[in-house]
Amino acid sequence: MIPAKTNIAIIGGGPIGLYLGLRLHQMGIDCVILEKRTGIDHHSKSLGIHPVSLELFREAQIIDLFLEDGLKIRRGIAFWNREKIGEISFYACPEPYQYILAIPQWKTEEILQNQLRESGRDILYRNAEVQSVQQENSGVFISGKHNGTYFGISADFVVGCDGKNSFVRESANIPFDGGPYPDYYIMGDFDDGTDFKQDAAVYLHDDGLVESFPLPNGHRRWVVKTDQFYESPILELLHEVISDRVGYSLKAEKNYMTSSFGVQQFLARTLHSGRILLAGDAAHVVSPIGGQGMNLGWIGAEQSALALQAAVKDSSKAETYFYEYTKHHRKIAKQTARRAEMNMHLGRKESSTLLYKFGVKMMLKPPLSRLMANLFTMRGLGRWPV
Ligand SMILES: Cc1cc2nc3c(=O)[nH]c(=O)nc-3n(C[C@H](O)[C@H](O)[C@H](O)COP(=O)(O)OP(=O)(O)OC[C@H]3O[C@@H](n4cnc5c(N)ncnc54)[C@H](O)[C@@H]3O)c2cc1C
Repeated sequence: MIPAKTNIAIIGGGPIGLYLGLRLHQMGIDCVILEKRTGIDHHSKSLGIHPVSLELFREAQIIDLFLEDGLKIRRGIAFWNREKIGEISFYACPEPYQYILAIPQWKTEEILQNQLRESGRDILYRNAEVQSVQQENSGVFISGKHNGTYFGISADFVVGCDGKNSFVRESANIPFDGGPYPDYYIMGDFDDGTDFKQDAAVYLHDDGLVESFPLPNGHRRWVVKTDQFYESPILELLHEVISDRVGYSLKAEKNYMTSSFGVQQFLARTLHSGRILLAGDAAHVVSPIGGQGMNLGWIGAEQSALALQAAVKDSSKAETYFYEYTKHHRKIAKQTARRAEMNMHLGRKESSTLLYKFGVKMMLKPPLSRLMANLFTMRGLGRWPV
């Protein structure tokens, strides 16, 4: 049964809500996570965990669980059409996490969920859809349906971790500024028959970007830029485009999933309103090219956990703590969005000039390659409080 009162209600149990719940629980703060799904969504989205998040996981003492199941990508090889033009080594990044950890998003959510369940009280309520969020002077009243029955809960503070179409954000009347880019991609996970082993490969092709990332269990993800949004049939199109651009046939390799996605960028005008905070995709959406959205979400979740910890201790200063969280994390979100945009520009057709090729080659050589490796792995975004 969902309790009638709590200090903090987290709405949404995706990767960000689960992490935030775990951190608040570790801090000894009473909280619940309300998630409308009955189980983890196995549709494959994110695959990359960056060193900044691995550092957070180390502090939260959950790093070993991720390292057990993930695959370490230490190098990315770059091609211009089919010609190899250089590589980026993550050995150039600060120790000890000189790699990007590849792990499917569903596995990440499973690890976080299991950790929560093993940490004592189970604070995750599934099949709990929030339908109303009403802010009052002394708290926030939330109601909805849990296992088909109405529930109501009073919380001192609420965090909307309910994704890009956030109901919490709408209820708090917080504008979401941004929009779509004219970029479309298709992707698929296959058995890995390439010789790339644990390396990633990026093809800057005249007809559009092709990216190829190793996954655990001998799988590999292929992501391909297309001219338009394709609903289906994606598998045949992936075979055709990868064969045309890269000269590699995927036909003999077992396919595990395909999907297509457009690219958007949004940022909430504020990350707090009274007793309500936003985190994760509810607060910001960046292009998945470069794989930074979920990692950005965890940085924000950690910062919001610190702000909430302070607010629970002294609610008279909550507004100040939340204002600082908004100010600092919006800045990081803007920086991340610019980096994600840079990654996307690399894959656009209009970028394929000789001068551009020269520029890319320079970026793949020291000392610029070191800077690129750090930019790509989300270094230098700043932590809060500073
Ligand atoms: C193709 C693709 C590839 C990507 N690759 C990467 C990558 O490699 N690295 C990276 O960092 N990011 C990546 N991302 C981005 C990443 O997937 C998102 O940033 C991440 O899922 C955001 O997590 P979240 O918890 O904020 O939101 P979500 O994952 O959207 O979770 C929100 C949760 O809230 C729940 N919910 C919604 N409304 C309610 C309600 N009213 N009541 C209760 N529950 C509710 C939903 O059911 C959902 O479980 C990728 C995205 C895509 C599309």
